[in-house]
Amino acid sequence: MNRMNRFAAVAAVFATLSLPAIAQTVKVTPLGGIEGEFCPQDRALVFEDPNGTRILYDPGRTVAGAGDPRLGRIDIILVSHMHGDHVGNAHNKEPNSGTCAAPDMSVSAMPNSLAVNIALAKKSKIVTGSEMPPFFAAKLKANGGNPADSMLARFGGSVTVGGVRIATVTAMHSNGVDPDYIGGELGKAMKDAGIAGDVGLATGYVLRFSNGLVAYLSGDTGVTADQERVVRDLYQAKLAVMNMGDGFTTGPAESAFVINELVKPTSVIASHANEVGTVGGKVRPGSKTEAFIKAVKVPVHVPLSGKLMEFDAAGKCTAGC
Ligand SMILES: [Zn+2]
Repeated sequence: MNRMNRFAAVAAVFATLSLPAIAQTVKVTPLGGIEGEFCPQDRALVFEDPNGTRILYDPGRTVAGAGDPRLGRIDIILVSHMHGDHVGNAHNKEPNSGTCAAPDMSVSAMPNSLAVNIALAKKSKIVTGSEMPPFFAAKLKANGGNPADSMLARFGGSVTVGGVRIATVTAMHSNGVDPDYIGGELGKAMKDAGIAGDVGLATGYVLRFSNGLVAYLSGDTGVTADQERVVRDLYQAKLAVMNMGDGFTTGPAESAFVINELVKPTSVIASHANEVGTVGGKVRPGSKTEAFIKAVKVPVHVPLSGKLMEFDAAGKCTAGC
């Protein structure tokens, strides 16, 4: 083999070795209220690791029960906190019920929650932080499930499930448990007094997928110093899912600050808009979603329901954006 041929052979080997890394992407599918749109109640995202592990983040109210055909296999369910629009106190009758502005969320998931109903049907692990795991373990047990399927990842620690490392991070928010999940005399007395149950602090998540992609899922949060010191400096998140709907969580300007100055990821998926974010799949002029996109310096991807996006290890969208 002459020198040039040897060079070509070595180059070919390197090209072969690097090919799988290029091909390995994390697939993200939004399960929102209306196909092809970004609607007020949209929270749920399914992440699929290159190794096939499927993770449902904050089922909320737009997943039409455990039988929603869009779910497929779900290995892991993440619940950032206990508010009904995240854990799922009620939900759509079937996918795309109602309209984007006025979704049909007429099916109650009380007292289990949609997250628990899906976990029971799919035999998924529920991975939460704070003091939420005992709550979910008790719900699973009460419904014939396995309480050990409720797993803990408390601040600073992490747990690896299906090849995905899961950590929880600070979310500056509240985390009251609606007394309707408790029921009975105690639940009624709490409801009458206007007091919620306590399962510790709300959380966000940092996921490290098997291709090396690190994603930050903000949950509902205000601005925190941890978004810089922990999410960026420690975990080095490259993709962010950022809640930006204002009122309950950071608004467009505050969320843009978090992205531009604190987390500094490669790209962002907008979430939790609490408005009609798109019409005909296009960002609605004058919307908070539009304000967020304009204020953020990196690419913002709008999670259109059912539209698959793929991200490489560097957090760059390689398909579907
Ligand atoms: Zn909340």
